[in-house]
Order: sequence, then C-alpha cells, then structure tokens
Amino acid sequence: MKTIQCYLKKNREKSVLNKHPWVFSGAVHKVVDETEEPGAEVRVLTYDGKFLARGLYSPGSQIRCRLLRWEDKALDRAFFEKKIRQAIALRKAFMAEKDNAWRVINSEGDGLPGLVVDRYAGVLVVQILTAGMEQRKEMICEILDQELAPQVIYEKSDGIIRSEEGLSAQAQNLKGELPTEGVEIMENGLRYLVDIAGGQKTGFYLDQRENRALVAGLAAGKRVLNCFSYSGGFTLSALRGGAERVISVDSSRSAIRLAQKNCELNSLPCSEEDFLVTDVFQYLRDTRETFDMIILDPPALAKHKRDVESAARAYKDVNLHALKLLPEGGLLLSCSCSRHVSPDLFQKIIFSAASDAGKTVRIVREKAHAPDHPIDLYHPESRYLHAFLLQVVE
Ligand code: SAH
Repeated sequence: MKTIQCYLKKNREKSVLNKHPWVFSGAVHKVVDETEEPGAEVRVLTYDGKFLARGLYSPGSQIRCRLLRWEDKALDRAFFEKKIRQAIALRKAFMAEKDNAWRVINSEGDGLPGLVVDRYAGVLVVQILTAGMEQRKEMICEILDQELAPQVIYEKSDGIIRSEEGLSAQAQNLKGELPTEGVEIMENGLRYLVDIAGGQKTGFYLDQRENRALVAGLAAGKRVLNCFSYSGGFTLSALRGGAERVISVDSSRSAIRLAQKNCELNSLPCSEEDFLVTDVFQYLRDTRETFDMIILDPPALAKHKRDVESAARAYKDVNLHALKLLPEGGLLLSCSCSRHVSPDLFQKIIFSAASDAGKTVRIVREKAHAPDHPIDLYHPESRYLHAFLLQVVE
C-alpha cells in the first residue's frame, strides 16, 4: 500500500510536535497520494513539507491520522513487534505471578492507538478500533501468537470509535475456539468466570484490580454494599477480606447471576437475597439497611463532552444517597470512569454531594487504573478512571 502525505495547515503542527497522537480533520491542509483504502500509512508534514510524524490514516473519521512514530521510518512489522514486546515486558514487571488476567495493550497508552488486547488465562481478546489496525490485524495476531502463545485469540471489536471509522462490529475466533462455558481467570487470589463473548467490554473490568485489592484489605467485619457490581469483583474481594455481609446491586440479571456463580466458585458465603437486580439510584433511596462501606462503580455516565452536565448530576445523586447511608467512620469508594470528568470535577461533585448529605467527609486515598492501563503523557484523554476512598468523619 502506498504511503500518503498529509500536509497540515499553517501553524497547526504544535500538538504533533508535542507528541499528541491525534491529527484532527480541521488541522489538515491537503492530502497527497490519497488511496481509497482506509488505514494506509501516512506521513504527516508541516504546511511547507517538513516531516513531523508517521501514523495510520482514517479518511472517514474526525481523527484523520493516529500517530505512532515521530521518526521518518516505516510502520513495519519490526516496529509493531517492538511496541508489543515493550507492552508485554511492562506487564510482566508489574503483574503478580499468579494473576493471569491483564491488559496486554492499552491503545494510546502503549503507543498503539486503536488497538486493545486483554489476556484472560489462555485467551487473548483483541479489540480493533481503527481502519489502520484493521488493515494490520493479521500481522498483529501473528506477533501476539509468537510472543504469548495463547490457545485462543478472539476478536471483539465494537463501539463508537469503530463505527466512526466506518467499520462494522466483529466478534469472531481468530485462533482456536472460545470456550462456550466462559474462561476462568485468577485475580488477587480469587477465581472468576469471565463471559468474554456475552459480557460487558472484553468480559472483565481489569482496570479496577488494585481497587478491588484495596477493598479486600479494608472489609474485615464490615457490612458492605457493592453498587454496580457486574460479575462481583468488589463483592468477592470484600468477602475474601472478611466482610460480615455484602449486598451486590446491578441492573443486569446476567451480571448478577455471574457474580453469584463467582462467589460459589470460591466457596464464599453468599445468600440469594444479597444479590439484587435493580436500579442503584432507586435502591439507594429506598433501602433501610445500613452499611460500613459502600462501593460505587457506575458505568461511564458521560460518554461525550456534551453529557458532562447531566453526568455530574447523576454522580452527585448516587454519591449523595450513598453518603447518607454511612455512619461516622463509614467508607465510600467512589469511582468515575468517564474520560470527560476530570479528577478535579469529580472531587467537586463529591464535595457538593457531601455538603447536601450534611456529612463531613475526608479523602483517604486517591486511586486510578491499575498499571496494565498505562497513560500516554502526551494524551491526557486516556486518563479516565478516578477513584476516591472517602471516610465520613461526622
Ligand atoms: N465494579 C464492577 C464493574 C462495574 S461496570 C467490577 O469491578 O467488575 C458497571 C455496571 O453497572 C454494569 O454491570 C451495569 O450492568 C451496571 N449498571 C448500569 N447502570 C445501572 C443502574 N442504573 N443500576 C444498577 N446497575 C447499573
């Protein structure tokens, strides 16, 4: 495939010089040698033709080029091999020997925009988000196979970014066959069944691993409420940590069923009535239970910038009602995974919730994603998960 040349408008090179990996359509002056084929390699140049960076071209997207290399060398197999090996080495340095579920490649965070790969024991789940990565899918799988020798490589590619690229959703085996009964993983000494094909995202919220460990360390003897519990990550962690009782709430019946199954898998005590398929916003208003610790891990409430205001109201609502349920000394782990809600804004929302709840609250810990979700310094947008561990003082 031909390499195309993308000239920027006058004085629009600053973000590329700052190594931001995206070139928006509005910054593009002209494209030369444009092929019809999306995903081609592109050299990005200043208005007067000085080389800036190399990337992959997306003709249909607002993000016209995603940049991978700031030297004028080809984005060839050797380049991808190096990046993938670097990513794997980072995980091996951080992950506990026994934990066999981690994010192998975190898109921009690993210098490979448009590519996400998660490992669940012997299964790799590949998410291809851009035309550029779609073109190189076969090569990427060959490298992953060579470096990690998985039994199965499964593609689960969907979402807004992909549709903006004009790509349809894909769910298919690329190597071997995904077991229909789910895949068992080990995290923080707990066993989980992961529903890769039918579950949310690629099957498990790997980014919360450290926060689940934090909860396990604090749960002894406590009555815990796990809101937005999905497959029970925080529930199992709290029970393993010696919680007296854990109530799990999620609106998805299949998620709650999986959470129950996961408790059984670890022989953790759990009774049917502690798993509730219901709306968290309503539950927090209606419940008469009291708790010593509450976990709030809602889905991204602001998917777009324009949603920030309504998301802020929703975050305030759940935090306010959760804080009302906590006595003096009670703990709240409050999370936001909306990339458009900054830690600063999130803290202000919690301030406002605490104030309306009539509680004095302090921040005990501030947490983010686990280290298998590195953040590109030049791409602050990839920092999305903020978690505050709060304590009600009075
Ligand atoms: N804490 C989980 C991940 C949570 S993902 C873990 O560690 O694995 C968010 C979850 O919120 C999803 O399972 C989704 O089904 C659930 N959810 C979304 N909106 C909800 C609502 N209004 N009430 C209850 N659950 C909701």
